[in-house]
Amino acid sequence: MLTLSDLPLRDDLRGKEPYGAPQLAVDVALNVNENSHPVPPTVVDAVRRAVDAQLRGLNRYPDREFTRLRELLLTYVQDFSSRQSGDGSTPADFLTADWLWAANGSNEVLSHILQAFGGPGRTALGFVPSYSMHPLITQSTGARWIAVDRGEDFSLSAETAAAAVREHQPDVVFLCTPNNPTGGGLPAEVIEAVLHASTGIVIVDEAYAEFARPGYTTAVHLLRENPRLVVSRTMSKAFAFAGVRLGYAIAHPAVTDALRLVRLPYHLSALTQAAACAALEHTPVLLDNVEALIAERDRMVTALTELGFDVAETDANFVLFGGVSDTRLLWQRLLDAGVLIRDIGIPGHLRVNAGTTEETTAFIEAISVIVAAHP
Ligand code: PMP
Repeated sequence: MLTLSDLPLRDDLRGKEPYGAPQLAVDVALNVNENSHPVPPTVVDAVRRAVDAQLRGLNRYPDREFTRLRELLLTYVQDFSSRQSGDGSTPADFLTADWLWAANGSNEVLSHILQAFGGPGRTALGFVPSYSMHPLITQSTGARWIAVDRGEDFSLSAETAAAAVREHQPDVVFLCTPNNPTGGGLPAEVIEAVLHASTGIVIVDEAYAEFARPGYTTAVHLLRENPRLVVSRTMSKAFAFAGVRLGYAIAHPAVTDALRLVRLPYHLSALTQAAACAALEHTPVLLDNVEALIAERDRMVTALTELGFDVAETDANFVLFGGVSDTRLLWQRLLDAGVLIRDIGIPGHLRVNAGTTEETTAFIEAISVIVAAHP
């Protein structure tokens, strides 16, 4: 049997494991931080019409610069920033469509950034535990990954972050806020300290920004003064659009221009662009479930705390809980009860994402029964 080791694979890829969250057919899937709510019927109709309008024209390549999508993403980012400012100001009014970038999921956005600013002989630094794809994307471009540990409680101070950046002088820094898998957001001063200490690109991965508690601030307003900052976002979580694969970034037009050097021509299909544009035209309907998911997340936090677990602070649509004596066993027992959650490899910890009310109840009931039977 031919195996990987028989192939002329790049030396730096030997022994690496691909991303591998289990995809299992279960009743209650709460393992990959998706939005549990199906796309609402009005949006389904709009997407169907938009996709349908493209079908005869599929003999042609799509708009390489995804012009309309950029405009709609711009409007969303500006609205989100104004809502967050809380005082009616429009802190992102300096942005124009050429500050927007998009790709097939924010994973591809991150890959474009690392292809342009990472690569052989370069380094990227992140604060772990964090999103497992950051090192994989870094290494796939031939760059070296530098992992710096967060504190005991998974916090990250401005001093620790800036000191690590000054010591290693990486070409790229990853900050993830709210952080996957721990859940908490970063104070603005950490991002500012890293920007100050760094001479490279600073990526702020805000995949879960819409779920953050009051007080969280997006890094978008820092873009005006910081041309090496890239804020990355996705429609996979709050927008309930993971299946479409649409991620985006906001960065100085010189940075988005650099990304055009590495993207494959016509990387966003006409169908993807049409579906994403139709969805963005229905943003309020799509985001309607965000509040419900936040309520379910908070219900999980309360229930897990009452069961005696150590629950991490969360600004995301998921909860990390510690104090698990045997992670593999609890994970399996939940799976046997039809509930799939995630073992992300942090000793004593498991992660579960908020579901619909029924799914959240199923999880809470299942774990309560397990804890009662095996105290
Ligand atoms: N960033 C973070 C922090 C994530 O957790 C994820 C998805 N799990 C992504 C980026 C990638 O999401 P997508 O490619 O679906 O946009």
